[in-house]
Amino acid sequence: MNQFQYIRPSKQQAAIEAVAKDANARFIAGGTNLVDLMKRGVMAPQKLVDINRLPLIKIEHENGGLRIGALALNSAVADDRQVRERQPLLAQAINAGASAQLRNMATTGGNMLQRTRCPYFYDTALPCNKREPGSGCGALEGINRMHAIFGFSDKCIAVHPSDMSVALVALDATVLVSGPKGDRRLPFADLHRLPGDTPEKDTTLEPGELITAVEVPDGPFTKHVSYYKVRERASYAFALVSAAVALDLDGNTIKAARLAFGGVAHKPWRLQTAEQFLVGKPATEETFRQAAAVAMQGAKAFKHNEYKLKLAPNTLIQALRNAAAA
Ligand SMILES: Cc1cc2nc3c(=O)[nH]c(=O)nc-3n(C[C@H](O)[C@H](O)[C@H](O)COP(=O)(O)OP(=O)(O)OC[C@H]3O[C@@H](n4cnc5c(N)ncnc54)[C@H](O)[C@@H]3O)c2cc1C
Ligand code: SF4
Repeated sequence: MNQFQYIRPSKQQAAIEAVAKDANARFIAGGTNLVDLMKRGVMAPQKLVDINRLPLIKIEHENGGLRIGALALNSAVADDRQVRERQPLLAQAINAGASAQLRNMATTGGNMLQRTRCPYFYDTALPCNKREPGSGCGALEGINRMHAIFGFSDKCIAVHPSDMSVALVALDATVLVSGPKGDRRLPFADLHRLPGDTPEKDTTLEPGELITAVEVPDGPFTKHVSYYKVRERASYAFALVSAAVALDLDGNTIKAARLAFGGVAHKPWRLQTAEQFLVGKPATEETFRQAAAVAMQGAKAFKHNEYKLKLAPNTLIQALRNAAAA
């Protein structure tokens, strides 16, 4: 591992300034992703700004929603009584990710900012536009079975790996950000970006911007929810495809729906057209199949990930069945 400086400020402004002033500085929270990338030589920050002394750990319910501090551990959020009662979809999605040990280290902010698991990104001997802009994309003509079917570009076809983020985009969460120019609120759907010509940028955050919390508004989605994740083994594996579903049912009629896919795009993939399709329809197998067909409009596969064109709609249908039956 390369040498690096390490500081642990106790004031938020000091942490932000330390990263904003130095292009080679990075925040570190649980370290479960960043340290891994440093050990493999994928990232080489010269300064680590440890944010664990900042008071960003609380999970509160206020102003009609949950406010989850950026340093709240994944395990603490998934186990929190208010989260389980008010946003069970979020608890399910977090528990579907990583292992219990990792969830005890991983933080809310770090989980949403973890980097892609594209194997070419991790292997420094291979070309990757995200790791080294302009070097090419090894996955485009290579082994691309884990890769995107929506929203990709000819520069990058990687997918975003976070399970928690799939639930957060479905639940209309808002990210609270503090930076050198002040504080701002960002719809969760606008946090991650599509690769376009600049796949090295995963998010719309400016240099030095710190995520301080995420807010999830209260809604009617307290019962009929399902986070359904398809992976290669039962635990400790990233999603091939996942689907987050929250339904508001009146008897058997769907009053409102929130849907998103994971494992299919460079960002958690909200399915608003399919949500609108479901409103007013009966919660039946036929409706679910039609909604899944709507959700897949515009999908396009590569040589090794054609299976996702079938797997994704089937995953959504299963999540819809689970949610309706819950
Ligand atoms: C073997 C393994 C299996 C895994 N399986 C899954 C899985 O199935 N599903 C899943 O979702 N995840 C999975 N993970 C990923 C794991 O959940 C993430 O590593 C973790 O959530 C990252 O959180 P962290 O706090 O450790 O982040 P760190 O590693 O500390 O940071 C990650 C990134 O976020 C930045 N950062 C951290 N906090 C902030 C903040 N508040 N503001 C601004 N920037 C910040 C850092 O600079 C860094 O770039 C797995 C990890 C491993 C090692
Ligand atoms: S898909 Fe993206 S992350 Fe993977 S090799 Fe291509 S540019 Fe790199």
